[in-house]
Amino acid sequence: MNYRKKTVLDVDVRGKKVLLRCDFNVPQDKATGEITSDKRIVAALPTIRYLLENGAAVIACSHLGKPKGEVKPELSLKPVAKRLSELLGQEVIMADDVVGPDARAKAAALQPGQILLLENTRFEPGETKNDPELSKALASLAELYVSDAFGAVHRAHASTAGVAAYLPAVSGFLIQKELDVMGSALSAPKRPLVAILGGSKVSSKIGVINNLLEIADTIIIGGGMSYTFSAAKGGKIGDSLLEADWEDYANQMVEKAAEKGVKLLLPVDSVCGDRFAPDAERKVVPAGQIPDGWQGLDIGPETVKLYCGAVAGAGTVIWNGPMGVFEFPAFAVGTQAIAEALSKTGAVTIIGGGDSAAAVDQLGYADKMTHISTGGGASLEFLEGKELPGVACLLDK
Ligand code: ADP
Ligand code: MG
Repeated sequence: MNYRKKTVLDVDVRGKKVLLRCDFNVPQDKATGEITSDKRIVAALPTIRYLLENGAAVIACSHLGKPKGEVKPELSLKPVAKRLSELLGQEVIMADDVVGPDARAKAAALQPGQILLLENTRFEPGETKNDPELSKALASLAELYVSDAFGAVHRAHASTAGVAAYLPAVSGFLIQKELDVMGSALSAPKRPLVAILGGSKVSSKIGVINNLLEIADTIIIGGGMSYTFSAAKGGKIGDSLLEADWEDYANQMVEKAAEKGVKLLLPVDSVCGDRFAPDAERKVVPAGQIPDGWQGLDIGPETVKLYCGAVAGAGTVIWNGPMGVFEFPAFAVGTQAIAEALSKTGAVTIIGGGDSAAAVDQLGYADKMTHISTGGGASLEFLEGKELPGVACLLDK
């Protein structure tokens, strides 16, 4: 995939109507509808401000939740318009529909420096079908398309990809940073490149492991998925997470790494709990020797030493998947130690994956990393080396 794409800085936006695809898919309180984190709205501000300050009229759009092609008032973007307006310190005009009469009238009347927010793009059945009619209708509102919704670039939807067939299309600052940092880490990394892979399941990380085996110098395995590797080698894993169907695959990966000269590190010990609970009884046991009735919930102290040593001399570290059940403080020690080690290297440090980003944030290391990808699923597909439709549709540099 070509990661070098034109940005808002490469085009003239003055006096133009700009359709800006944002990721305003914010978490909301189920009962009150209140926005529980405005991070994604805050993240969109630099591009919005740049466009407004440079004389563009901004027509912003986004999806929110899964209304499945129907108008669902509880998934209206109105609360987002309110919060965005507070953050920007200016009025955000809200449309009652996506490409209907209200949106069209308000878009037509929009002046440079003003911002309009369309309703939830998924109120339109054509959105997730990438219907060309919807793409054309969206395109007809504007003269330029800017995408800054990294969290949605792995979807080929009308507002994330289809619309780019009918307008010149460039990226905003958020996508540009994702492409710059992750794109260079994958295509021309500062070596050695160390990939740390954890999380719950091997099966959800196959694509990531396969792709990183091709480019990394060292691969570190932790988290729940490490127990499938351990079981595949004949180890005792007690009640730890196991995907028995993937044991063969795990062994093949170990062989493939050896063939390619990629160093693959597996845990040498784990912190076990007598049940899956924050206050579980704990004990440290060597890898492959977990007694029945116990389950591995974190990497052990010897593993922490080994992994921190491997990270120390890295040029680039790509981390996806926590080392343990970080949601329970008693089992967050391994994840915390890795975060601490990353914060101390001179390496380019990249965090991908929704839970990994949450872990780093929760443990207080967010501002110590080079880059925390804003897209959960999108960042995984990026690490898998897949073509992302919402990136591929943008103009090449
Ligand atoms: P990401 O969203 O960053 O890609 P995953 O979704 O793959 O990460 O994995 C995150 C989840 O893995 C966390 O909820 C964490 O509790 C869980 N996890 C990590 N280690 C273990 C373990 N040893 N046993 C059970 N669950 C684990
Ligand atoms: Mg996850």
